[in-house]
Amino acid sequence: MVSRSLRAEAAPADIAAAPLPQPYAYRRHEAVEPDWRRFPGWRDITEREWRDPQWQRSHCVKGVRELRAVAGPGLDEAFYDDVEADQRHHATMSILLPPHVLNTIAPHTAVETAAWYEDPVRRYMLPVASDRHPLWPSHPLASRDSLHEAEMWAVEGLTHRYPTKVLAELVSTCPQYCGHCTRMDLVGTSTPQITKYRFVLRPADRLDRMIDYLRATPTVRDVVVSGGDVANVPWPRLASFVGRLLEIDSIRDIRLASKGLVGLPQHWLAPQVLDGVAKLSADARARGVSLALHTHANAAQQVTPLVAEASRALLDAGLRDIRNQGVLLDGVNGTTEGLLDLCFALLDSAGIMPYYFYLCDMIPGAEHWRLPLARAQELQRSLMGYLPGFATPRLVCDVPYVGKRWVDQADGYDRERGISSWTKNYRTTVDHDDPTALDRVHHYYDPVHTLPQQGRAWWTSAQALIGAAS
Ligand code: SF4
Repeated sequence: MVSRSLRAEAAPADIAAAPLPQPYAYRRHEAVEPDWRRFPGWRDITEREWRDPQWQRSHCVKGVRELRAVAGPGLDEAFYDDVEADQRHHATMSILLPPHVLNTIAPHTAVETAAWYEDPVRRYMLPVASDRHPLWPSHPLASRDSLHEAEMWAVEGLTHRYPTKVLAELVSTCPQYCGHCTRMDLVGTSTPQITKYRFVLRPADRLDRMIDYLRATPTVRDVVVSGGDVANVPWPRLASFVGRLLEIDSIRDIRLASKGLVGLPQHWLAPQVLDGVAKLSADARARGVSLALHTHANAAQQVTPLVAEASRALLDAGLRDIRNQGVLLDGVNGTTEGLLDLCFALLDSAGIMPYYFYLCDMIPGAEHWRLPLARAQELQRSLMGYLPGFATPRLVCDVPYVGKRWVDQADGYDRERGISSWTKNYRTTVDHDDPTALDRVHHYYDPVHTLPQQGRAWWTSAQALIGAAS
């Protein structure tokens, strides 16, 4: 402890030179765009090609054949086999990696197997079989559409799950596919394990019905325009849809959802897109509507200078805000340092607001990524006080049939079996006529492999019963 007299003598400069030791040491994130020329397959790619969204889209890596052509002998054959085994036996999402995403894996080293195995972006964007948990790859109660969104469709692709908010899924594709995608039942192309559902209606008809529903439902004031990823909606169709939303006086908030800002920033830097965003933003502003973009970065190294450039350009074009909704993933960002590094990178470099981190949803094959609720509660506490209050992210659990809840809002928590209990304070379209809806208790489940021995034994017995009943 500093004595009273010493403190009195210390000049301000001395105090500044000797910062207090803290559990997390803040440092300004100085990003450098990783050099794509370290990949043998991109040695001759010019900056002009790299910044071209069409070049990026047409050179996506979709499997081991393309990966080998780009990464070459730096990655062992065993690594390629591991990727292939994952696609064959486990994957719920197919591989789709724009060069920009691949370039953020082990960003400042030569392409090399050990670095790739350890890398946080690789761990969720390019899954390998050896990452999956050997005993509990899936939770016994994991399911496709674990949030039951399709049950709450007011019209096809329009999820009405909260009193004043809806989610409009315009498209079922993205510029990149993430291994842990919560909409794995619908988004992307089928894998050997998962045959994807498909929208039935024609896109134009679906969008018309969404608009009709919203016109007829003035209690909805907030529309998340999502997918998939709106970066895959042809711009004229997206602009027309948002333009029609703006004409509905009851809608006050519109949020475009695009991980593409992080995975394919070239898309959002395209002049046609920026011009279009500027027009929509001006229209929104004139009508008093908040038009924002939500993106999805999970590791600080994803906030490259190009991502920051695209983000700043969108803000300059007039978007009200850009916010990040990440997912808590073990081995990717499940530490205080990982989360704070990411939040400061977003805020300092790109002007992106850290907003949410979700516990990973209970989809099949996700157990090696999922963190228990107790860990999320610890992480939430450890984040407090470092970031400005307005930029301190909330860690949330998206509870099936309930919705997002802050991780400290559980009504009960059996730590031995990893079962948390949650209630809600509103009705959804599936329980609107149920008099017990607001008293009913819903559950979220921790990954079994993180439980104490008694809890694991309980789930081993329960798994047999669940299997017999299903
Ligand atoms: S961008 Fe979003 S919707 Fe698309 S695969 Fe990733 S998590 Fe799923």
